[in-house]
Amino acid sequence: MLAASPFILNSAAAVTILPAGHSRWMATPALVSVTAHRDVQIQPKKRMPHNPIIARTPAALHRARTELSKRNADIALVPTMGALHDGHVSLIRLAKRRAKKVVVSIFVNPTQFAAHEDLGSYPRTWKQDIAKLAAEGVDLVWHPDVKTMYPDGFATRVAPEGPALAGLEDRFRPHFFGGVATVVTKLFTQVRPDFAFFGEKDYQQFKVVTRMARDLDLGVRVIGGAIIRERDGLAMSSRNVYLSADQRRAAPALFRSLKATSKRMRAGEDFRSSLAAGAAAMSDAGFAVDYLEARHAETLAPISSFKDGPVRLLVAAKLGTTRLIDNIKA
Ligand code: AMP
Repeated sequence: MLAASPFILNSAAAVTILPAGHSRWMATPALVSVTAHRDVQIQPKKRMPHNPIIARTPAALHRARTELSKRNADIALVPTMGALHDGHVSLIRLAKRRAKKVVVSIFVNPTQFAAHEDLGSYPRTWKQDIAKLAAEGVDLVWHPDVKTMYPDGFATRVAPEGPALAGLEDRFRPHFFGGVATVVTKLFTQVRPDFAFFGEKDYQQFKVVTRMARDLDLGVRVIGGAIIRERDGLAMSSRNVYLSADQRRAAPALFRSLKATSKRMRAGEDFRSSLAAGAAAMSDAGFAVDYLEARHAETLAPISSFKDGPVRLLVAAKLGTTRLIDNIKA
């Protein structure tokens, strides 16, 4: 049984969602409650946990995929690297609302990690993941191993441009979007979903994948999901487990500083000095800031006025060795 861990969907609306696995079996009242502006309570669906099919080979995936798409059922894919949390669950719920059948992939993709990064220590929580996916009624889990995805002799890499070269994550992780684009292209061609769900937590990634799916005619509609946060505002991430107790206490300063920066900008302070103040507040809280930038929310181009389009504030910063990213609509 899953523990009750209410999570918050974007601070402004303060939407609290209880994991379905929790609420389906206990007489807890609300699956979703919107507290900030109005009270909305949605009763939990009464559904037994349902073990998903687990496919580990292309042949098993093909069989399961054929079965799922019988009677023309449409299919949504939620790509993940496992260590599932409520951010992933929120995407699965969006997927379930949009498509008849939901596939979740769990694959820790080596090609998006640099040699010095955390591929070896990336959290792996297979049993808990499957329990969560069963509670959510996911139909199929695609869980290939590295050799299946990248057999000996593998020699192709998708090289995204445009948003992948915006000068944000790509400046600090130059290998990253090539790895993401390559694995996502493979996942899309393997699973052939109608829809794919990506979190806005990884905002640049969401834009890269959206662009790529269009450019390469992959036949998949890419849909974004809002950032899910802990109660104190920290964006949920599989990597949050790396934080020490002290770092965990300091971590919400990232989101707080983002909001304070947005407030300064909205109050008419120029973007440059607002961003400088935001970065200083992050440093004071113990972060080593890689970047804090205001970008056009669609093109990711630098932007210095609200007159020039919708503004997104994006940050990446390290607490000790743990690198956190976050973003908000300014
Ligand atoms: P990952 O397993 O970290 O590769 O993430 C899989 C998907 O979940 C990606 O599309 C992420 O953007 C999304 N995701 C991760 N954390 C969150 C979050 N806190 N809120 C919403 N989506 C998230």
